[in-house]
Amino acid sequence: MRTAVIAIGGNAILHPEQKGTKEEHYANLQITCSHLALLIREGYDIVLTHGNGPQIGNIVLQNELTSNNVPPMPLDVCVAESQGEMGYFLQQVLTNKLREMGIDKQVVSMITQVVVNKDDKAFKNPTKPIGHYYTKDEALRLMEERKWQMVEDISRGGWRRVVPSPKPIDIVEKEAIMRLIFSSKSSPIVVIASGGGGIPVIQTENGYKGVEAVIDKDLAASILATSIEEELFIMLTDVPKVALNFNTPQQVELDKMTLLEAKEYLSQGHFPPGSMGPKIEAAILFLEHGGKEVIITTPDNLLKAMQGKAGTYIVKSQNPNPKQIPF
Ligand code: ADP
Ligand code: MG
Repeated sequence: MRTAVIAIGGNAILHPEQKGTKEEHYANLQITCSHLALLIREGYDIVLTHGNGPQIGNIVLQNELTSNNVPPMPLDVCVAESQGEMGYFLQQVLTNKLREMGIDKQVVSMITQVVVNKDDKAFKNPTKPIGHYYTKDEALRLMEERKWQMVEDISRGGWRRVVPSPKPIDIVEKEAIMRLIFSSKSSPIVVIASGGGGIPVIQTENGYKGVEAVIDKDLAASILATSIEEELFIMLTDVPKVALNFNTPQQVELDKMTLLEAKEYLSQGHFPPGSMGPKIEAAILFLEHGGKEVIITTPDNLLKAMQGKAGTYIVKSQNPNPKQIPF
């Protein structure tokens, strides 16, 4: 029996051109969850995590549009709401898929807090754009009233709030996650945790306190995988393989790279910030902290990738050969 942490990218849940209705979420998740269910049927135990980019944008906007009638919630609460909403979608669709296959397994989502350092330099330099686009006048008012930091996105003609994206350090609920997967050996529970990168909290004299930030979901997934001592970490996105010289005539798709190669290619600029960059950083972090293997691919290539026949493997060194993974 093997266990794996699987991070599902935002695009595997909602496509960029979609609005974000419940029906759209369900339709996309039917496909992703049927691949996850097949993997579970093959005997894998999984811990799932997911992105929340479009969803958190919508939740923040809902809070803004009704702020005259209902007090708007700060960002840590919005992340918690997105974990609830998306956890519910995933939990229900995956449970139904498992039932269809005759597998009686519980799926549960956990509201997860992720510790960040209060002195993280990201707090002084917010870079992550979130939510709606505003006019200059609205932006000036919001910066005054709410103390938001905002930047102008000239290409898309509007002002946008930017928030810090501090590095994740630890998962507050890691013990609970481990107990759910490891203490119920007869039928381990599928846990959905650390959605949207987790709720960012700092440690204070009076305990944990939520902060207005967004944690990168790939880095948080890597910390999750390390904290619960998983050996296999899979990132599902919308490209079948990681490539060098991506989107150029010289593009080369990679079947495998070592930790050293990953670092080298990252420093050469093959993996841009905001898309493939954080995934490769997350892979490096995981392999440097006890992890054995990382796979990056699409949901429909998941099973083939587990057999070494698809996706990009990132491993510590040339051995072991990923094609010999027991399945
Ligand atoms: P997710 O929602 O899964 O996190 P992202 O958009 O953040 O997805 O990252 C995946 C995207 O990274 C792909 O759709 C692709 O356009 C882009 N990308 C950038 N560089 C590379 C690369 N070197 N190889 C493959 N994909 C890349
Ligand atoms: Mg991403």
